[in-house]
Amino acid sequence: MLSNRQLFLKYLGQTSPEPLLTEIERADGVYLYGPGGEKYLDLVSGVSVSNTGHNNKKVTDAVINQAGAYLHTMVYGEMVQSPQVRYAARLVSILPQPLDTVYFVNSGSEAVEGALKLARRYTGRSGIVSFNNAYHGSTYGALSVQGSDTYSAAFGPLLPGVSRGTFNDAESIKLITKETACVIVEPVQAEAGVILPEPGFLSLLRQRCCEKRALLIFDECQTGFGRTGTMFAAERYKITPDIMILAKALGGGMPLGAFVSSKRIMRSLMSDPPLGHITTFGGHPVCCAAGLASLEYILENDLVSQVAAKANLFRKRLRHKLIKEIRGEGLLMAVRLSDKAFVKHIVANGPKHGLITDYFLFCDDAFRIAPPLTISKAEIEEACQKLLTLLDEAAGS
Ligand code: PMP
Repeated sequence: MLSNRQLFLKYLGQTSPEPLLTEIERADGVYLYGPGGEKYLDLVSGVSVSNTGHNNKKVTDAVINQAGAYLHTMVYGEMVQSPQVRYAARLVSILPQPLDTVYFVNSGSEAVEGALKLARRYTGRSGIVSFNNAYHGSTYGALSVQGSDTYSAAFGPLLPGVSRGTFNDAESIKLITKETACVIVEPVQAEAGVILPEPGFLSLLRQRCCEKRALLIFDECQTGFGRTGTMFAAERYKITPDIMILAKALGGGMPLGAFVSSKRIMRSLMSDPPLGHITTFGGHPVCCAAGLASLEYILENDLVSQVAAKANLFRKRLRHKLIKEIRGEGLLMAVRLSDKAFVKHIVANGPKHGLITDYFLFCDDAFRIAPPLTISKAEIEEACQKLLTLLDEAAGS
């Protein structure tokens, strides 16, 4: 009989040249467990998803309760489903205004598609500005605004009308003209290796968008739900976008995305033509119930206000000659090493030491630290010990 690992390689469509191949049987808090009793401390959170920890009881109870009530009933936007409407209302209560209307979809990529369509439909323009090394997803619209050709060029032709600026470059705002429907930007560029906006850059974008009447879209898929130390990065940088894209932690571990805007803008998907975006499973009731429970957990346990101290503890403990820089905001960190071969050593050998970390798509000299926000001080000490051992090992190899 084939092992699960063999079945994985035989039957699953593969895209990763070097999958981690770590088999997981169950998960709890910041730990993932393998079938042979292996225990891994998770510094990735499934890429900024599991902010409230694995197998969080409040979230799993919500999933079980909703699964017992009903699963799918009808395509999105027709029937009133209490998990959806309660979650939308709760989100609006914590989002900067006028972001008061939520369109739930299945994923980050679909939310990007919805946001780009909404911007084109609302403004009647086609131009889109995105930034170098941005990652917004893998569907065609999202791929077209990706900030590097590495993963997109082979799939062309892509969406026309996209121009690419340089993040943190004031000159690039000149790409925003009266032909521009929208500017899409990650307020903190995650897959670029956690690049922070320089002071004033996001407000320049905001100002130029207002002047040219283009819409500003913040992709907060990775920065949302406390990851950077405020509930949303928009809050930290005091900039309100016209459309916000949410996914990843939005579903508390279940697949869920959303694009959020004002009623005035969102209304343009209702007519000429109606049904401006259609999704069968978007806003699935089980996913919305899980997401709402996860958000309530973040709020009840005041997880967001603890993020900065937890990040500082990582920074204090991670002192090593191979570390050039720890870049990041809150618990979204890129640890830059003196050579990319060392990064490979850390990521590939992490599981042997009971630690999961990961690469970035557009930055090969850093590894990722983005644990569940629930991580305790003792767990941070344990993670840092493991990392220091791995760094010693890399230095000696
Ligand atoms: N935007 C950002 C900033 C992301 O990091 C990602 C996923 N890594 C996406 C969009 C796409 O999300 P999904 O994989 O759910 O389609």
